[in-house]
Amino acid sequence: MEKTKELLDFRSDTVTQPTEEMRRAMAAAAVGDDVYGDDPTMNELQTYAADLVGTEDAIYTCSGTMGNLMAIMTHCGRGEGVLMGVNSHTWINEVGNVASLAGVMPFPLDDASGAPTLESIRSAYKPASNVHFAPTTLMVMENTHNYTGGVPVDVATFAERANLARELGMKIHVDGARIFDAAAYFDVDVKEYVSLVDSVQFCLSKGLGAPMGSLLCGKKDFIARARKHRKALGGGQRQAGIAAAAGLVALRDMRGRLKEDHANAALLANLLKEVGVEVEDVSARTNMVYFKTPGGLKSSALDERCRKSGLLLSLPSETRIRMVTHVGLDVDSVKQAVKIIKEAAGL
Ligand SMILES: *Cc1c(COP(=O)(O)O)cnc(C)c1O
Repeated sequence: MEKTKELLDFRSDTVTQPTEEMRRAMAAAAVGDDVYGDDPTMNELQTYAADLVGTEDAIYTCSGTMGNLMAIMTHCGRGEGVLMGVNSHTWINEVGNVASLAGVMPFPLDDASGAPTLESIRSAYKPASNVHFAPTTLMVMENTHNYTGGVPVDVATFAERANLARELGMKIHVDGARIFDAAAYFDVDVKEYVSLVDSVQFCLSKGLGAPMGSLLCGKKDFIARARKHRKALGGGQRQAGIAAAAGLVALRDMRGRLKEDHANAALLANLLKEVGVEVEDVSARTNMVYFKTPGGLKSSALDERCRKSGLLLSLPSETRIRMVTHVGLDVDSVKQAVKIIKEAAGL
């Protein structure tokens, strides 16, 4: 964690280093062969996760990408359709695996402000009764919504979308890579979201600070079928309790501090605005700040200058920059980062 602090690594919350307690738990973990279901620490993590989100069962996956793909492959047969936002991680950042590996056709939703619009859900839906259509049997919703600014979707808005999808006969999967950030932001139990849907994937490896892994949660038979897909995708692991031990610490101890990241991101947004940076406004801010590169500078040029002062940024495009707060960064890191950006951009 010290290393991250010195570096001012604002690229993502995935750069978080495991805590001392995670490392101790990993060293001491009781392990077995998880493909046989024999790993006690993994079993404990999966049970803990299912209890925490209020589902019958849960399965550990190597990554969020694998968890989302497993969910789509389990909910949809080949040739079926899945609705997802055109600004969603599953649409943009998962290498087209929905098409190439699941054989499922994605249909676009308008999610420009985070949650998909009701209108776009209605118009993207395709019933099985029409012989011409790939029937849309699943909708994926992302919360928090990364690409539009880490926007958390509140329970009422989320419920409206989920209920419409359900009325139309679709299943709902949540890409909840950062669902605990949404729950923390609105001070709600994560179960309030999960009770409205069929499955959720969340990441241990982001704001929760674990070195790796995600959980996919849902009903027992769904998880049993997802387990086969995980094996087919090469995701069956052996003494995986080593990783699960860190995940347990992450889930137990790290959720409670996510609001600190949100406060630091709010401070970052305000300080950047104060020095004249065009920060993207969001309806609610968790741990991300997106802004336009100042003074017509290309983001790669700004990045190069900031790097020399030890500040790392994420560059979604040549005119757009993302900064993410996390456990390895504090108020001083934020102030220091703004100072570096101000100098680098000549503001
Ligand atoms: C990071 C992320 C994922 C994928 O997680 P990986 O573990 O990197 O594969 C999925 N959805 C969202 C919204 C993410 O931010």
